Amino acid sequence: MQSHQPVFNDLLGQPEALDLIETAVRHREEGVFHSWLITGPPGSGRSNLAIAFAAALQCKAGGCGTCQSCVLAQAGTHPDITVLSTEKVQITIAEIRDLVASSVMGASMGGYRVMIIEDADRMTQTASNVLLKALEEPPAGTIWILCAPSEVDMLPTIRSRVRRVGLKVPAVEDVANLLVQRNGIEPKLAMQVAAESQSHVGMALRLATSAEARTRRKETLKAATQIKTVTDAVRACDRWMELAQKDADALTKERDGEEKAALMAALGLGENDPVPPSLRTELKRLDEAQKSRAKRSLRDGLDRILVDLLALYRDVLTVQLAAGSALVNQDLELDILAVASETKPEQTIAKLEAIELARVRIERNVRDVMALDCLAVSLQVRKD
Ligand SMILES: [Zn+2]
Repeated sequence: MQSHQPVFNDLLGQPEALDLIETAVRHREEGVFHSWLITGPPGSGRSNLAIAFAAALQCKAGGCGTCQSCVLAQAGTHPDITVLSTEKVQITIAEIRDLVASSVMGASMGGYRVMIIEDADRMTQTASNVLLKALEEPPAGTIWILCAPSEVDMLPTIRSRVRRVGLKVPAVEDVANLLVQRNGIEPKLAMQVAAESQSHVGMALRLATSAEARTRRKETLKAATQIKTVTDAVRACDRWMELAQKDADALTKERDGEEKAALMAALGLGENDPVPPSLRTELKRLDEAQKSRAKRSLRDGLDRILVDLLALYRDVLTVQLAAGSALVNQDLELDILAVASETKPEQTIAKLEAIELARVRIERNVRDVMALDCLAVSLQVRKD
C-alpha cells in the first residue's frame, strides 16, 4: 500500500481519490489544474478531503500536517484558504460574487489562493453562472475545489470545467481498523461503532470515545421502538429535539476547544497566554468560523438522528425479510425483533419513507419541529 502524506491520514478507503490528488500535489511545479469537484455521500469525507488537498498544496513538504501552514489550514484559519459553507438551503449569487472577488487576490503566504465551496450543489442557477465565468478565466495561482453529493447535482457547464474526484463510503472494517490503530480503540467496540455510524469516521470516533454519545444514540432509537400511542410519539419527538441539542452542544464545545488549542500552539502561545494584538485576527477568524458551525450543528444533530432511525428500520426490514445480513444495531436486537414481529414489511417501508421525508423537511427548515412530530406519529408500532 502506498503511504500518504500526514494531512490525508483521516481519509481512508479512498486510494484512487488520494492517488489522484497527491499526484497533482507532487507535480504542482508544472501547474495544478484550476478547478476540482469532489463528490461523495455524506460522511465520506468530501470537506475533509478538500481541506487536506488545500493544505497539501500550501505546504512545502506536500502536506506534513505539522508546519504552521498545515496547522492553520486544518484549523480553518489559513489566510489563503477560503471555505464557503452554508447553513442555508441555497448559496446565493451575492455569496458567489464575494467569493469570486476574493479569489483574484494574490496569496498572502506565497502559495496558492484556494477557494472551497462545501455544498456546491446548493448554488442557485444564477450563482452557478457567476462561478462558471470565474472557472473559465481563473487567475494563475487560484484553485477552486467544489464539493457535492454527486456530479449530477452540478450544471453540465460546470461539470465540463472541473476535474472530478469521486469518494466512496469506506468499508465498516476499514473504519474499525483506523480507530484501533490510530486511536487505540478496543477492537470489538471499534467494530460496533463503525457499523452504528455507517462508516462515518468522525461519528464513529465520537461514539467510541464518548459513552454519553453512545447512550444518547441508543436512547433515541429505543424511544422509536416504543411508540405505541400519539402521546408516546409527542414525547419521543420532544426527547429527540433535546438529544439533538445536547449532541450538537457537546460536539461544538469539544471541537472549538481543540481547534483553539491547536491554533494557539501553532502561533507559539501557551493555552492561557494573552494574545498579542498582531495575532488577534487569526483568533477572530477562528471564532467566526466556530460560530457559523454552531448554527449548523443542530440541524446536523437532527439529521444524524434520522440517519440512525433509517438504519434501525433497515434492521427491522432485514429481520422481517429474513435477509440474513448482519444488523447495524446489534445491541438493540431484542427491540428490533419485537418491532419486526409486531409489524409488517409494508409498514416498515412506509416508515423508511416517512424518515426520508422528514430529512428533506428539516434540511429545508431546521425549525420544522412539525416534521419530527409527524414522523414520530408514523413510527407507531401497531398491528393492523
Ligand atoms: Zn506542512
